Amino acid sequence: MKTKAAILNKTVENQPFKESEPLLIKEVDISKPGKREVMIKVMAAGLCQSDVSVIKGYIDRPRPMIIGHEAAGIVYEVGEDVRDFKPGDKVVTTFVPSCGKCLPCSEGRPALCELGVESNKKGELFEGGTRFSDDNHHIYTHVGVSAFSQYTVVSENSLVKVDTEVPFEYLALFGCSIVTGVGAIVNAAKINLGETICILGLGGVGFSALIGAKAAGAARIIAIDVNQKKLQMAKELSEDIEVYTPDQVKEKIIEVDVAVETAGVMDALKLGYSLVKRGGRVVTTGLPGPDKKIDIPIMSVTFEEKEIKGSYLGSCIPKRDIPRFLELYSKGKLPIDKLLSKTILLEDINSGFDDLVSGDNIRIVVKFD
Ligand SMILES: [Zn+2]
Ligand SMILES: [Zn+2]
Repeated sequence: MKTKAAILNKTVENQPFKESEPLLIKEVDISKPGKREVMIKVMAAGLCQSDVSVIKGYIDRPRPMIIGHEAAGIVYEVGEDVRDFKPGDKVVTTFVPSCGKCLPCSEGRPALCELGVESNKKGELFEGGTRFSDDNHHIYTHVGVSAFSQYTVVSENSLVKVDTEVPFEYLALFGCSIVTGVGAIVNAAKINLGETICILGLGGVGFSALIGAKAAGAARIIAIDVNQKKLQMAKELSEDIEVYTPDQVKEKIIEVDVAVETAGVMDALKLGYSLVKRGGRVVTTGLPGPDKKIDIPIMSVTFEEKEIKGSYLGSCIPKRDIPRFLELYSKGKLPIDKLLSKTILLEDINSGFDDLVSGDNIRIVVKFD
């Protein structure tokens, strides 16, 4: 059958994307789900900074590729041997398929699944190959999801079933920004009640981290961003969040237990490191270019027992954490609806990415009919 999708044929660095048009909207062929695969009707898919990194080539992926990795939808058809899903089920995608059997999976770290990471690098589904094509030419799959398409085929290992009435445009956010941001707080930083925490970078992940820090009982929350509008939005989220630009924060004497860097900016990571107290933790979820490095005095890492920790997919176990976070949202304890700035049509995705990069929006979501 046919599906209308956003295809990345070549990397494009120059903006506005509205003019350079890195993403081509086109009807392409999608084949039936294979063994242990599921076809979903995508209802909503979020635009994320890491998609921009793929568009610009900072994250190198094979092309042509249908990108997008944060989606919610309805199961349309299931392949052979699929037991946990049936047509009509509501699902959220996860951007690392996990086998459940390799060592990292066995240790409760599915974001590091050996087979999942391997298939993602190849731009293939977990089971191998891809189910999209155009004129008999294969189109690659983005991290096993390819969300910017009316229909997509994914491995059953890339899905979490959810039983909820939450609108799809909010549900989609659980696929990346919420698992990454809230997960960084509870799974990676493991913050304790009453700690002081600073979040550097206020995109979708940064805002999720703010909301997560509040829900997890941080006593003092400090938000840092170069964009005044973002700081204003953080203030609107909660009056007791302290907001600073990086320059302002350097003039203050602030010591935090935990710094979470979400921007993928080296200066932000360094600033975060300088703000954490002796024995404190720095968590990074950022994805800068592969050549980006920081120099940090190793003596201080040792003497001061500071910890620097990476967190991918919020170090989450999606099957456990997505329903948990969803329940907290339903009870009003995780106000993630505040993350959604606007919804757009698939046809407007190039200018949507311009709007995301401009910094005036937190999350923008493509809504499908
Ligand atoms: Zn993302
Ligand atoms: Zn695994």
